[in-house]
Amino acid sequence: MIDSELRDLYQELILDHGKHPRNHHPLKNANATADGNNPLCGDRCTVYANLHGGTIADISFEGKGCAISQASASLMTEAVKGKTTFQARHLSDLLIKMVKGQPVAGDMDELGKLVALDGVKEFPMRVKCATLPWHTLLAALDGQSDANDNNREVESI
Ligand code: ZN
Repeated sequence: MIDSELRDLYQELILDHGKHPRNHHPLKNANATADGNNPLCGDRCTVYANLHGGTIADISFEGKGCAISQASASLMTEAVKGKTTFQARHLSDLLIKMVKGQPVAGDMDELGKLVALDGVKEFPMRVKCATLPWHTLLAALDGQSDANDNNREVESI
């Protein structure tokens, strides 16, 4: 359980990342790029990654939308930069499970700052806002340019 003080702290972190998103720019040397959108809320997200030898050497995003989608994208770029694509996929899986309210068991520690998004599960309409950047990242890692070209977005409604 999250006590109210911690909850306020998480809310501030989300507001801060939503207002001042980190790594919010195109990436000139990107070799994996994907677009995603969440029609339910109007959120758009483009993820740029520079993959090098199985590692995400650099990552950025561009996007418009609600504070949750922007904050989630911003936190994502910070969380996966320098990680292997394997670790990034694992983290995506955990994050998506967490915001959908599915058990992530003993893996909460691995989520680090991303735990701030845990409260999203209480707002079903916001779940797709939070997962959009992550689905878009997974599409980029899969070599797909459009995150909405598959069933990823559909299954998370
Ligand atoms: Zn949204």
